Amino acid sequence: MAFDAPQAAVYGRRYKTLSELNLILLGPPGAGKGTQADKLKDDFGLPYIGTGDLLRKHKEDGTELGREAKSYMDNGDLVPDGLVIRMILEEIEEKGSDGFLLDGFPRSAGQAEALAEALADMGRSLTAALLIEADDETVIRRLSGRRQCKNGHLYHVEFDPPKNEGFCDQDGKPLFQRDDDKEETIKKRLATYHQKTEPLIGYYEERGLLRRFDGARSPEEVHNLIRATLASLRFEESL
Ligand SMILES: [Zn+2]
Repeated sequence: MAFDAPQAAVYGRRYKTLSELNLILLGPPGAGKGTQADKLKDDFGLPYIGTGDLLRKHKEDGTELGREAKSYMDNGDLVPDGLVIRMILEEIEEKGSDGFLLDGFPRSAGQAEALAEALADMGRSLTAALLIEADDETVIRRLSGRRQCKNGHLYHVEFDPPKNEGFCDQDGKPLFQRDDDKEETIKKRLATYHQKTEPLIGYYEERGLLRRFDGARSPEEVHNLIRATLASLRFEESL
């Protein structure tokens, strides 16, 4: 792999951009984005910027941006793109000088354009948008089979069943399905995903930034393919 330390050190001195991995994660719920994000964080020490968490953090800490966001949310309005981008940029400036992994934003082509402009103002740009694909059938099968007990132990009726059907192996508590994992809810989330995110995929494809991965493969396989892709992106940059 091209990421061994001595090489990174040499490139790091000569070409700053080579050490920068400015990444966006895209994909439907249930495609395995969270798992891949964890692995990428471990591999490259990239700060993970999940916009849902970021919004919550700002509100809890009562920052100026958080108070501004809260005023929209209290009125039942969406937090404007500009405000979310300011939070993201602040996070990137604080923690992401060598790269970042952005999840949950942008969700539309308009937001993607706004993010591209904001990054350009910092003299930076995206390295790639990583799309982890999974068809609706796969997503529904994965998510609707999840079960948990009230202590948060997780199972899957098909892929990781408990020894006694309907009961937790660890504490014997009954297992239940979260509302988020009900088939009707999943179908709604998928419909929203297709409607809003497909134009975004086109946006990154046109700009040569999109890289597709088959989320039906094992998490380990997807992870290796992502690593190989990032290695070749860095190699191309070095030529
Ligand atoms: Zn349990």
